[in-house]
Amino acid sequence: MNTDKSVILFERAKKVIPGGVNSPVRAFQAVGGQPLFIKKAEGAYLYDEDGNRYIDCINSWGPMILGHAYAPVLEAIQRAAADSPSFGAPTRLEVEMAELIVSMVPSVEMVRMVNSGTEATMSAIRLARGYTGRHKIIKFEGCYHGHGDSFLIAAGSGAATTGAPNSPGVTPGTAQDTLIAPYNDLQAVEALIAQYPEQIAAIIVEPVAGNMGCVLPKPGYLQGLRDLCDKHGIVLIFDEVMTGFRLAPGGAQERFGVFPDLTTLGKIIGGGMPVGAYGGKREIMEKVSPSGKVYQAGTLSGNPVAMAAGLAILRELRENSAIYARLESIGDKLYKGMKGELEKRGLHYTMNKIGSMLNVFFTEQTVYDFTTAKSCDLQLFAKYFQAMLRRGVYLAPSQFESWFCSAALSEEDIQHIIQAHADALDEIINQKA
Ligand SMILES: *Cc1c(COP(=O)(O)O)cnc(C)c1O
Repeated sequence: MNTDKSVILFERAKKVIPGGVNSPVRAFQAVGGQPLFIKKAEGAYLYDEDGNRYIDCINSWGPMILGHAYAPVLEAIQRAAADSPSFGAPTRLEVEMAELIVSMVPSVEMVRMVNSGTEATMSAIRLARGYTGRHKIIKFEGCYHGHGDSFLIAAGSGAATTGAPNSPGVTPGTAQDTLIAPYNDLQAVEALIAQYPEQIAAIIVEPVAGNMGCVLPKPGYLQGLRDLCDKHGIVLIFDEVMTGFRLAPGGAQERFGVFPDLTTLGKIIGGGMPVGAYGGKREIMEKVSPSGKVYQAGTLSGNPVAMAAGLAILRELRENSAIYARLESIGDKLYKGMKGELEKRGLHYTMNKIGSMLNVFFTEQTVYDFTTAKSCDLQLFAKYFQAMLRRGVYLAPSQFESWFCSAALSEEDIQHIIQAHADALDEIINQKA
């Protein structure tokens, strides 16, 4: 596989962009080697600058759920761009977008558009704080909510703790308002609520975690969080930036039948354009300025080109239920096929899966939180990743990321992935011996 052009571009990039990339996980630091520079993509395939083709199992971390260069999205973008890409004034497209989101996501009665998932979560916790008049939030270890200061917090020692800054530049003052509990552990949440009575504004959770690998909520966990929030006047926020429009038209909340007070959205909602949104109960959303006093704004928020792209993809997802059946079937086939290849070789690696999100964890433990996810053999994952890449399968370059399948995968692509997985496992085993 010749990747000379990517090598040269990365050298140039490193001189003028920190680490050569505009988002850290793209740098391949967790798997070694260097990133591929992608020139174009179509359907299920990515093409790098040297013309190599890969089956894409990330799909821009979710948005390309119907495959790359999807015709209705491209047409919508071109039409909107021709009318000028931005006005800084209200548009019909924003109204249609808000109406569509409210019609699809069960708990959302009003919604505000922003430009990224990070903006959505930052704004949602400010709103929860403004609404409750409380300062602290609870987040879960291993969940990612973008790069806002309040979320870049690591757990201290002990099961449930006040956090410590996880990045230079985050102040201890900010860190002390973020409390950390392990995922899937309701008792830890109860302990924090007891320790900080009437001080907790919000609990924010990925209803299915996708940022420590794919980790599912245990039965009753999400409802347990809902009950605790109701009992203690806490705003429950589902961060559905990954799961929204993926696990069902109405996201994880529709799939599990548990409804948050606020929901954050991103990724798929922009059809590949930079978009996020937060929404929820009318009573809470009316506190956002200008109808309320909680300030939040954006020069390019609700941008017409981005709205057009998002509308095109969401309409397709709402109107064509066969898409979700297809995504389920793709997830099932990959899960069964790949798990079968592990079992044939007597390998007890863990696979988690829900809908079109899945991944292989290189550990024998059941993975249900960050501690169990961290038991993975990361060197083994790195070898697996490289072995898959050489066989034309593009995975997320980290053990701690879910796969995001697109509906564009053909039966042949699925078989190619399973075969590549089998061969990659053999390569790893032979290297070990
Ligand atoms: C990706 C992600 C974010 C951040 O979204 P950006 O658009 O990258 O800022 C927030 N929450 C979750 C669950 C995500 O997966």
